[in-house]
Amino acid sequence: MADKKRRQLMGIMGASAAVIPVSALVGALPSRAQDDLPLVDPTSAQATALQYVEESPNPEQVCSNCSLYQGGDAEQGPCPLFPDNAVLASAWCSAYVPAA
Ligand code: SF4
Repeated sequence: MADKKRRQLMGIMGASAAVIPVSALVGALPSRAQDDLPLVDPTSAQATALQYVEESPNPEQVCSNCSLYQGGDAEQGPCPLFPDNAVLASAWCSAYVPAA
């Protein structure tokens, strides 16, 4: 009896997974527009720990060409190291990783 119910449950879960692709679930999650994010405060503890500066001293190493930058061509955008803030495309921090 328990096996039958377990099989039924697994069948329902499998059918749900087939009907609702993961991408649809992710797309349905609330997202915060990058324009809504306040800029990183360069004097914050996280920023100073990462030596974040709004103007990179090296124009070849800026957030906009860092692999962690998620702002595309925008002048500012998200970076996973500052989940509640946006970073400037012209900025830099010590975690910089060149985009491939
Ligand atoms: Fe900018 Fe640093 Fe984030 Fe790269 S890791 S986007 S350099 S703040």
